[in-house]
Amino acid sequence: MSIVSCQACGKKISDKAIICEHCGYRRGEVTAEKWAVMQQRKLRDEIYRWNMASYAVITLFVAGFGWYWWASDGYAQATSAGPFYVMVAAALGYAVVRVFLYQARRKLKQMRQTAS
Ligand SMILES: [Zn+2]
Repeated sequence: MSIVSCQACGKKISDKAIICEHCGYRRGEVTAEKWAVMQQRKLRDEIYRWNMASYAVITLFVAGFGWYWWASDGYAQATSAGPFYVMVAAALGYAVVRVFLYQARRKLKQMRQTAS
């Protein structure tokens, strides 16, 4: 944090201040910049969460497959539909997660291009 002069009244204010505490001037340029940084940070968090979610659904798929393998006694017997439901649900979940991940990554890319 550093001290800067307000563009409107010239008094000393924090560079973190969005609004000048002396005259109420809204430091638009800085705010937009900070807003972009905040949005990018938010998107990175979002991407991280979606990545974690994709690992979770992959784990679920592997678990469903393991269940199938175990229940079928090494593919020797027919099983109940349970393992297939788990695998199908995981595959669908993975597809959904990938869509969100793609959207979040594209948004972040667009934001970086706009910023530079
Ligand atoms: Zn001011």
